[in-house]
Amino acid sequence: MEHYKHILLAVDFFEQCETVINRAKELADRYQAKLSIIHVVDSLPITDAGYGADIPFNLDLTAELMEGARKRLAELAQKLAVTTDCQWLEMGSPKTEIIRVAQENGVDLIVVGSHGRHGLALLLGSTANGVLHYAPCDVLAVRLQDN
Ligand code: AMP
Repeated sequence: MEHYKHILLAVDFFEQCETVINRAKELADRYQAKLSIIHVVDSLPITDAGYGADIPFNLDLTAELMEGARKRLAELAQKLAVTTDCQWLEMGSPKTEIIRVAQENGVDLIVVGSHGRHGLALLLGSTANGVLHYAPCDVLAVRLQDN
């Protein structure tokens, strides 16, 4: 079996992310692999005036969202002993950014969570699905319970 050298944990900070975090940590320990973590702040289209008057269109929540995400990522990194150069806070589409960071940093295993979605939800595509399709390396999709 392959010995992974660089594992990328994709964390969304939702309720069940502990399961995914624990699995990635376990694997990094087992393979003595480098562990990197990534969180992607979804870009919000709120600066588009076409989205109506409910939100003032010059309101920019981006800085606030990034700041909150930065704190959570730093806390997690400390807990997992992940150094600053292995922490990735990106903005955009989660699947695109996860793939890009994996490609650019010689990641050989991506760990994501996966809900047992099917039907329309699957057609629309979850992050796990997108990562599985385009990853340049192995992907571990950790099965999460559906609520
Ligand atoms: P989803 O299919 O979007 O519910 O997400 C499945 C998994 O993709 C999550 O358990 C995470 O591992 C990863 N993921 C989803 N969204 C993000 C995000 N914004 N940043 C990093 N990883 C994410």
